[in-house]
Amino acid sequence: MFFKDLSYYEYHLSSPVKQILNVGWLDKDHGFETGELGSEFHSKLSSIIVGNSRFDASFNRIRGIHPCSLCGERDITVSNTERQKTLGMSEILVPDINGNSYFASPSMIYHYVVTHRYLPPKSFIEAVMNVDLSMKFLAEDIFDNLLGART
Ligand SMILES: [Zn+2]
Repeated sequence: MFFKDLSYYEYHLSSPVKQILNVGWLDKDHGFETGELGSEFHSKLSSIIVGNSRFDASFNRIRGIHPCSLCGERDITVSNTERQKTLGMSEILVPDINGNSYFASPSMIYHYVVTHRYLPPKSFIEAVMNVDLSMKFLAEDIFDNLLGART
């Protein structure tokens, strides 16, 4: 599924959620920016995807796995000492640095960045680096609330 970076989120919805912007919905038919992001960004993004008992960025979990839309790989995991997540089974919600909007990405975005050198928009990079993994953050609840508040 392709969505242009920073477009309004409307995946599976009848109308867009304007507090959520798409980032990292790549496919083979659309070009994307490339560049090098440091290992600090890679590990922070991985930590966000893996989550912990307070911080859970995953929402819209699916039963199967969406393989990488660029190379078809499907057995890609990220982990920390306690948890492991398989990419392609959910989306992640990342709070913007202003605190009142969000970015939605497929969890595969980690693989896009690390393996395919995808360079996300600067605002997303800043948001990832700004995330406080010790805060209480439940993406599913936030997403449901935003859906309910649509006008
Ligand atoms: Zn790939």
